[in-house]
Amino acid sequence: MRASWTRDEVILGLDVLFSHGRRHLSMDSEAIIDLSNLLNRLPIIPIAKRNDTFRNTAGVSSQLSRFLWSLKYNEKHANIGRIFTIIYEEYKERPGELHEIAQAIRRNESVIRQVGFGASEEADGFPEGAILCHLHRHLEHQQGFQFKNRVAQCAICCVRVDHIYGSLPNVQFLEPHLLVPPTEISPDMTYVEEYFIMVCPNCHSILHQIRPWRNRKTYVNILQTL
Ligand SMILES: [Zn+2]
Ligand SMILES: [Zn+2]
Repeated sequence: MRASWTRDEVILGLDVLFSHGRRHLSMDSEAIIDLSNLLNRLPIIPIAKRNDTFRNTAGVSSQLSRFLWSLKYNEKHANIGRIFTIIYEEYKERPGELHEIAQAIRRNESVIRQVGFGASEEADGFPEGAILCHLHRHLEHQQGFQFKNRVAQCAICCVRVDHIYGSLPNVQFLEPHLLVPPTEISPDMTYVEEYFIMVCPNCHSILHQIRPWRNRKTYVNILQTL
């Protein structure tokens, strides 16, 4: 299966398009060769998910061309991810900002490649270490956010975003927390809604630091009641 373009990759791709007059760039152009090489060097898509043609010059060139087609006809090309349109809409009036982000990624490439998956700072207080912490957060982001709209308040302290920040639209406040203990995470597990609670960032941070790990019956106990 082909790996979908990620946000970081689309930023780099659109920046190349913007920097070259938003025109078709052929697979043997310097810009496409550079971009293809960069996308192959960056550790965004796991090696195991890459096929032989991963982000090769032909693929990168045609992906950007399909996006240009979408712009021209104001219609999403069937073979292009929605993420292209989303990021384009975000930055079409501010290509300078997009360029700054792309430049920062390019500038830090050597550092990014040195910071491996599961670097020590990713442990974030987890006594189980960086790898299981990273996995915990990954599952929260990949699986838990689909349930975010169903609750309005923190499952522990009951704080509500609209009580603190008013009715700001699109403000993300509550986060999914995976109740499955890090030591029980397993590849064959299905992460159903019952495994998650929505919490505020403060309560989430506390849940990550205290042990024994709190389950569905005990998580509320972390609140000190007078
Ligand atoms: Zn809370
Ligand atoms: Zn969590």
